[in-house]
Amino acid sequence: MRTKRARQSLSYPIRLPDVVQQEALRLLDVSREVINATVVVLWDRLDEFGERETKYAYKQVTAMIGSSDPHGDRQWRCEAEQAGRILRGQAERKKQFALILPLLEQGMILPKTEKQSAGKNRKAIKAALASLREENSDGGSAVELQSLIEQSCNFYLTNGCFPDTYEQMQAFPVQKRGILPYAGDDGGEKGQAYRLRIDLEGRCCYLAFRAPDQAGRWSPTWTEPQLRLPLPPPVVERLQVGEDLAPTLREIAEPDGTRYAVLDFIVEVPVTPLPDPKQVRRVLGWDWGVRTLVTTTVLDLDGHRLAPPLFLDTGGFDGRQAHTRRHIDRLKKKVAKLEARRDQFPVGDQRREPSERKLVVLRREIARCWRKYEARNNDLAHLASNTLILLATVWEADLIAGESLKSLKSEGRGKSARGRWVRWRTNSQIRGALWRCLRYKCHLAGVHLAWQHPRGTTHTCPQCGKPAKTYASPALDAPVLDAGAWLRCFECGWNGARDYAAAINIALLGVAYLLQSGQQGHDARSTMKTKPLNSDSYSGSGLALRLPPTSPRGRLIHAGKRFVNGWITSVTLHSALPPDTMLRLCG
Ligand SMILES: [Zn+2]
Repeated sequence: MRTKRARQSLSYPIRLPDVVQQEALRLLDVSREVINATVVVLWDRLDEFGERETKYAYKQVTAMIGSSDPHGDRQWRCEAEQAGRILRGQAERKKQFALILPLLEQGMILPKTEKQSAGKNRKAIKAALASLREENSDGGSAVELQSLIEQSCNFYLTNGCFPDTYEQMQAFPVQKRGILPYAGDDGGEKGQAYRLRIDLEGRCCYLAFRAPDQAGRWSPTWTEPQLRLPLPPPVVERLQVGEDLAPTLREIAEPDGTRYAVLDFIVEVPVTPLPDPKQVRRVLGWDWGVRTLVTTTVLDLDGHRLAPPLFLDTGGFDGRQAHTRRHIDRLKKKVAKLEARRDQFPVGDQRREPSERKLVVLRREIARCWRKYEARNNDLAHLASNTLILLATVWEADLIAGESLKSLKSEGRGKSARGRWVRWRTNSQIRGALWRCLRYKCHLAGVHLAWQHPRGTTHTCPQCGKPAKTYASPALDAPVLDAGAWLRCFECGWNGARDYAAAINIALLGVAYLLQSGQQGHDARSTMKTKPLNSDSYSGSGLALRLPPTSPRGRLIHAGKRFVNGWITSVTLHSALPPDTMLRLCG
């Protein structure tokens, strides 16, 4: 049990007004140079950043070297903080590289044939990842491990061998966009690089920051002109219960080349304490759907189903993402063609110029598509985790159980091997984002979150626990289909949506986890084969949607970002059981 009240920091970007944009960008450009120079100098000492004695990265850096371009001690500390954070991140990545290094093997590379050039063997990579079973983890690092294996394979394709060391394949992590964390300074009141005063009543803050002028001179009177910034309502709401930490100045670049600076306003808020596991009476289980993104249900500790299946249907999200991916693939093909046309002529030849011009446009378009794609994934992760916490609150479930990322069971939908791979990879990205989101939101909201072994959850009857097959449709004569959306048990007669069955099974694993960890005092996770209970009845009391929420704990306020920006304007939740309940959550 925790004794100290846990806290969590949240970050809100606020765009600086136009009058100071030039100044802020100038400052970011100057400090980026210093940060990059610092990282390059300390690259040989990367391992030292794998150990930390202080939370402040700048202390580690300033103990090693001085600034390459001294312009104020606190300014240097802030730059050193960012350089140190980059190096610490890289040192962590290097530790993960040590995990995949022994797994790298020739089999991951498909040799060049007459028909195609050398490439990556997706199957071998997947198998290697599956073998990396980390005990007691939700598999959240699977995405990073995969990217390291892929990076090593790319190294092989260029160099004909795998890298021996991390540094061999990782170029200097040069920062392209400016980031200046003011955490190295003396705080908003006495800062020597920035000043910040918050006026909660006036719902605004007053900011000043030190920056070079156009001639590169650092103004001595920078504290004078205080800039008034209005604070958005969510920030004010957070500040009323939490406290502000040193902000970060950051550059954002649009694909068309426009740059602007934002101030990341960082608020540390107390989190709702987790309820005693012995007090938890209900468990919400959720599964990644075949047809829908997420399916959930709620069980009590005897395995009774209290809630109808709820499907989070994001209205064509998959289709939109697939469309964007295909568009990116088409653009990449065009780029390859244009590059080939350009390379017919020697460097310096004027005939290269038309292709070069078109390439600039195409690359910009590709970057724009990727950003759109990633923004959608992120929005979706926020939306899905908010929805899960909302449903847990409504049904008073204090534990959320979901499948771990470790095995990432593939859905088997895409026809070609490549299609499957793309789908699998997209899924792993979205799932990784959702787990990260859900973890911090549950932490904030005081809801237990536990990952479960996914093996067998989609092909086991939730009512009798026997293995069951899935079918293309609910019709009795429907053909057996491994990826089918309907599960039918011929032992006990249960039949229902396969995703619903999986959600019940995962909730059952959650219940088992709760009961067993209480007994043994450690993280014990059952599998479908060892779980001690089934779900043999449906209690109709949960049929009516329990909305509006009745929770007295104000969880929804603590559940993180409650607004969804961008493309998602609404999401439809619908129940498969009569009465057909529809709930629209609007952003
Ligand atoms: Zn059964």
